[in-house]
Amino acid sequence: NKFEQLGLNESLLRAINDLGFESPSEVQEKAIPLLLEKDTDIVALAQTGTGKTAAFGFPLIQKIDAENKNTQALILSPTRELCLQITNEIKLYSKYIKGLNTVAVYGGASITEQAKEIRRGAQIIVATPGRMQDMINRGLVNISKIDYCVLDEADEMLNMGFYDDIVAILSTSPTDKSTWLFSATMPQEVARIAREFMRKPLEITV
Ligand code: AMP
Repeated sequence: NKFEQLGLNESLLRAINDLGFESPSEVQEKAIPLLLEKDTDIVALAQTGTGKTAAFGFPLIQKIDAENKNTQALILSPTRELCLQITNEIKLYSKYIKGLNTVAVYGGASITEQAKEIRRGAQIIVATPGRMQDMINRGLVNISKIDYCVLDEADEMLNMGFYDDIVAILSTSPTDKSTWLFSATMPQEVARIAREFMRKPLEITV
């Protein structure tokens, strides 16, 4: 099993085995060892369907401290559907890790319920930018201690007009976190986010 050679731990390998994944996809092979090995920023050019959720999800799950209830990672994604899909995948990947909680935060659903879930302890939050910014403004979520921020489908988020929300969210998060940006294309706005909010990102292309 080639996943073992990427440096993933037993809990993840068991979950991967349950899912029937036989070998890592290209983006997984490139991103996983890199992200596990050092705390670096990355810009990954990858389309949907390439296995990018696991490419950032596996290292994220391995690096999170499940015994610490603080929010340690924020994943931003453009739509409610994608947000729920990522949450679902992360839950499947982390099923053997006790105490690791992932919460989805998106518009069009009860903000009170989402805030309640977060209060119970959510090491990973998967959010759409508008709702996330709303919750930060209302003091319902605290991202002052996150170590990781994933911007998934960054080009889509910017196409949908989330630039200001993303900037506001990134501005309230620690400057010493690692940022992992995934995008299918690299328009100027994406490059600008990378330039302004990332520290010498390594580039991965698949
Ligand atoms: P994504 O590009 O992250 O949306 O993933 C597309 C689909 O491929 C999802 O349903 C994943 O569960 C699945 N997948 C991800 N990695 C692998 C893999 N290494 N082998 C088989 N299926 C995978």
